[in-house]
Amino acid sequence: MIEDKNPQRTSLEHLGEFGLIEHLTKNFDVKHSSTVTSIGDDAAVLDHKSKQILVTTDLLVEHVHFDLSYMPLKHLGYKAVIVNLSDVYAMNANATQITVSIAVSNRFPLEALEDLYAGIETAAKVYNVDVVGGDTTSSNKGLIISVTAIGEADESDVVLRSGAQVNDLVIVTGDIGAAYMGLQVLEREKEVFKVNPQSQPDLSMYTYIIERQLKPEARKDIVELLKALDVKPTAMIDISDGLSSEIMHICKQSDVGVELYETKIPLDPQVISTCEEFDIDSTTIALNGGEDYELLMTISQDDYSKIKGNPNLTVIGYITEKDRGNLLITRGEQAIPIIAKGWNAMKNEA
Ligand code: ADP
Ligand code: MG
Repeated sequence: MIEDKNPQRTSLEHLGEFGLIEHLTKNFDVKHSSTVTSIGDDAAVLDHKSKQILVTTDLLVEHVHFDLSYMPLKHLGYKAVIVNLSDVYAMNANATQITVSIAVSNRFPLEALEDLYAGIETAAKVYNVDVVGGDTTSSNKGLIISVTAIGEADESDVVLRSGAQVNDLVIVTGDIGAAYMGLQVLEREKEVFKVNPQSQPDLSMYTYIIERQLKPEARKDIVELLKALDVKPTAMIDISDGLSSEIMHICKQSDVGVELYETKIPLDPQVISTCEEFDIDSTTIALNGGEDYELLMTISQDDYSKIKGNPNLTVIGYITEKDRGNLLITRGEQAIPIIAKGWNAMKNEA
């Protein structure tokens, strides 16, 4: 994990808005020829030639989307970028630029914002995107961060949610449920810490799931893999809210039904063991947990031989006629309707 390492506290008032923007953005270089003019003018100028442009934005609000008591600011900056890039990759496109807007209260010293921007800079480097602008303003209390991502793709490469066809295979990348279980562990440790601030939690059993919560990655590699395998999904979405709500988006927008197999859903052993420890059903977590930022796609059966055996791509079911409904075939071979709870709803229940 990346640690915040700025012990100093420089008040933001010293710098003023323009000094602050200049300070935070001084390291951002331009990597793409499509970035004609970057930070420093009234607007960035982009030239994507004959490509189609993809634009997506997400807003993260303190105490709603993140908790700084266990989320280091560096990780928050990184994650704020990742959640947006994930949406670009879910369109089978390449992310090229981002803008970053923040609202901060004077509760945050300059060093805190340096940490936030270090995470943003790392993500921009790892995922090869240019930071081309943003906005900076004050807030009364909490921190708000909004990132907009811009991507490009050839028109023929863009994949929508609406293209799934009957008999297509349903595929999920990586494994799911880990980010939600990581959050459960972090919330538990926060409560323990409140009661006993001297406690030194041993989190070594949970490193993978905590990393999935605090430092998620977006599946740029999958977009590249699909291209290399010469597979264009018929529909695709990123898993930000849980498998069930995402598959239902695809089914609704494609006007089809689905059958998913409980036994096929890819789970990391740490998710299984932590679910056992918390006495929660791991399938419920896979279906309704959120923030995995894996990709869920449908592909034609004709492409099966191209993806067969690839450890990144797991077939978990297939698309059916709409009137068959959206079904999960359980371990006991029962067919139960998939309902979308979404992880926020699940949180309120707990
Ligand atoms: P304006 O008054 O036109 O809104 P600003 O003074 O807010 O301009 O911004 C100056 C430049 O710095 C612009 O290019 C803007 O996109 C960029 N910028 C402002 N805030 C941020 C930020 N938080 N992160 C990255 N770029 C920023
Ligand atoms: Mg501005």
